[in-house]
Amino acid sequence: MSETTTRPAVLILLGPPGAGKGTQARKLEESFGMVQLSTGDLLRAAVAAGTPAGMAAKAVMEAGGLVSDEIVLAILKDRMAEPDTARGVILDGFPRTPGQAEALDALLAEQDLAIGAAVSMEVDDAAMIQRVSGRYTCAGCGEGYHDAFKQPLEEGVCDKCGGTAFNRRADDNAETVGARLKAYHEQTAPLIAYYAGRDVLKTVDGMGPIAAIADDLGAIVKQVTA
Ligand code: ADP
Ligand code: ADP
Ligand code: ZN
Repeated sequence: MSETTTRPAVLILLGPPGAGKGTQARKLEESFGMVQLSTGDLLRAAVAAGTPAGMAAKAVMEAGGLVSDEIVLAILKDRMAEPDTARGVILDGFPRTPGQAEALDALLAEQDLAIGAAVSMEVDDAAMIQRVSGRYTCAGCGEGYHDAFKQPLEEGVCDKCGGTAFNRRADDNAETVGARLKAYHEQTAPLIAYYAGRDVLKTVDGMGPIAAIADDLGAIVKQVTA
């Protein structure tokens, strides 16, 4: 762990499905020791474990809708209570509704934490569909790949862990993607104005190469933790 005396940063990654939130959150974990907190990953784990929250969320996720604020907030609060979040957190895919944004403000105030930046990752809708439909992840370590844009160096072998089993998400299909994009535009995009009004909004161009976007995000993290 780093020996610097920087205060814990709370970084929000905002963007439509396929914007690159998960890809960049993992890179920030590696570079800055921060913790990625993905409500999508937490919900998928709850579905796999068959918890009551997971059972309630499953059908909504398969249809590309948003899971209720109540369920998502309960999962998020549990995760935020774990001690590793003191290293700083990258919220990947949360908040996604105005209600979640307000609940996050209250939760952070309780913990005497503040949002360092809410970063809007801008990608066009066509790119987002291409990205989501070619996405797969390593079953062993969760590293993300893409059929066209990010292949493992050795075919069929994960660069990070050497694993050879990969998963594709059930909701990464053409039918569901339309619903997810609609949910983003209707319920999540308004948060861009919300965070602009709070003076914490930053914007990055999500259409460039992965490494260039990582540099832009790294500069933002350095700025907010300085
Ligand atoms: P999100 O978490 O926002 O849904 P991901 O990080 O999972 O998005 O990225 C979606 C897909 O696009 C993945 O297959 C990933 O490898 C790929 N990808 C991510 N960033 C880029 C980029 N800048 N250019 C091209 N492909 C990318
Ligand atoms: P993506 O990486 O494509 O943006 P996620 O993995 O973040 O997708 O989310 C997958 C699904 O999980 C969403 O379509 C939604 O059903 C549910 N989900 C994840 N995060 C939230 C949230 N903050 N609020 C409501 N539903 C969520
Ligand atoms: Zn792996």
